[in-house]
Amino acid sequence: MTATRTPGVPAIDEGSLISTSPASGDEIGRFPVASPDHVTDAVARARDAAGWWAGLGFAGRRKRLLAFRSVLTNRLEELAELMHREGGKPIADALVEAIGAIDHIAWAANHARKVLGRRRVGSSVLLAEHTSYLEYLPFGVIGVIGPWNYPVLTPMGSIAYALAAGNAVVFKPSEYTPAVGQWIVDRFAEVVPERPVLQIVHGMGDVGGALCRSGVDKIAFTGSTATGKKVMAAAAESLTPVLLECGGKDAMIVAADADLDAAADACVWGGLTNAGQTCVGIERVYVADGVYDAFLGRVVARAAKLTVGEEGTADVGPITMPSQIDVIRRHIEDALTRGGRAVLGGAEAVRPPFVSPTILVDVPEDAAAVQEETFGPTLTIARVKDADEAVRLANGTGYGLGGAIFSKSRGLELARGVRSGMTSINSALTFAGMPSLPFGGVGGSGFGRIHGEDGLREFTRAKAIVKRRGPSLLAITTFDRAPKTMRQVLKIVKLVHGRSK
Ligand code: NAD
Repeated sequence: MTATRTPGVPAIDEGSLISTSPASGDEIGRFPVASPDHVTDAVARARDAAGWWAGLGFAGRRKRLLAFRSVLTNRLEELAELMHREGGKPIADALVEAIGAIDHIAWAANHARKVLGRRRVGSSVLLAEHTSYLEYLPFGVIGVIGPWNYPVLTPMGSIAYALAAGNAVVFKPSEYTPAVGQWIVDRFAEVVPERPVLQIVHGMGDVGGALCRSGVDKIAFTGSTATGKKVMAAAAESLTPVLLECGGKDAMIVAADADLDAAADACVWGGLTNAGQTCVGIERVYVADGVYDAFLGRVVARAAKLTVGEEGTADVGPITMPSQIDVIRRHIEDALTRGGRAVLGGAEAVRPPFVSPTILVDVPEDAAAVQEETFGPTLTIARVKDADEAVRLANGTGYGLGGAIFSKSRGLELARGVRSGMTSINSALTFAGMPSLPFGGVGGSGFGRIHGEDGLREFTRAKAIVKRRGPSLLAITTFDRAPKTMRQVLKIVKLVHGRSK
């Protein structure tokens, strides 16, 4: 007998996690739920595989990661189709996401040796007969816990960099997107069939909890701030280090000298792409008084043209996680009750599983729609005196993930004033597609970095090695040190460090 299921809500039946389309309710696939013992066994196998994988060296891992990248590239359309069916996102959004992930795999593979490999660094004057080496060694096994909203790009931001650094990975995908997670892991196994270097464990949040307690050497978590706190608490039991990529409430600032057409285009795409279910999505906009009306008109005209539906060609797809619809509805209704106005959409825009683009103005700064992550195709747009007031208000939530600035003359200066991990100037969200740049937040958005050099180092321990080449010139690290030596050392130290400039 088949149980009745709510579209898009993951269910467990006879030990299998069942994934369904959020739009049609069609079953996408069934995956075995991992028990705590299964998780522990997977980590034990990963530990064995990690030694082999690290032993391949940078060149061996690079070759295999680039082969993985090629397989994904050649099957991009198939992957995008699966992402569309399981998560509901339009095909074009799925392709943009998957292409970003491919770029990251290649960058991590190509840069790991340069960033992490052993190099000589300077030695202290007093220990000049020593040679100092620095290298970054893999932790061993990394547990990666992923969300559903970017089921390829987001976990790959950890997985690719962890693998390139020489770790094995046990991956727990979101229960909303297990099919996409399994597809990725299966493709990796095709190019690395020898050992289980990348494994997957399926299930609900409790399986993520088991992974935190499984003895992995580090947890890389991407998901909500509330779950991030639970992950950190579980990992604290064994002092397992954590990387937390959590939620956001990113702001766009439109200065008086902004290119308004470009700003409106970036605002609509940055806020509404993937139906607004983007950690670094634009959720709030602060616009300088003099250009507010012209900007708002452009945004509303663009957003009103977007198509909403379950087809792969729609601009805005369904809300993937049905329970999020209540949050979106609450934020819109709260904003309207508290004096806000909907210049597009509004309460009637919520038609599960869809929410049509909604633009809210005159919303008080302490309203939920301004302070809490909405994760839907909504934007609040506020009029401010100038860009400096915009920066102050942009910094007024507990989050600090990304953001965007539109200004022809003050972009860099304003960007540095925003308390967040990443800012795009005269575009939106583009920092996520730059493999050479680190990605991560501050405050409620988490800590640690994926992507770029910092992202590679995040999955390693710094190893310092000092090698003595010959007899000590100034023998101070011995009880045989002579008073004369100490007098010489004092003279040198005063010469080197005693000056005020
Ligand atoms: P979520 O926190 O509900 O779930 C994330 C993952 O954690 C899932 O795999 C889930 O099964 C697992 N999980 C749940 N409870 C757990 C527990 N107690 N211990 C361990 N794991 C547990 O988040 P979500 O709804 O899947 O994703 C949306 C959220 O993710 C949003 O807040 C979004 O902003 C955030 N996000 C952040 C980034 C980033 O890079 N900062 C990227 C994408 C998404």
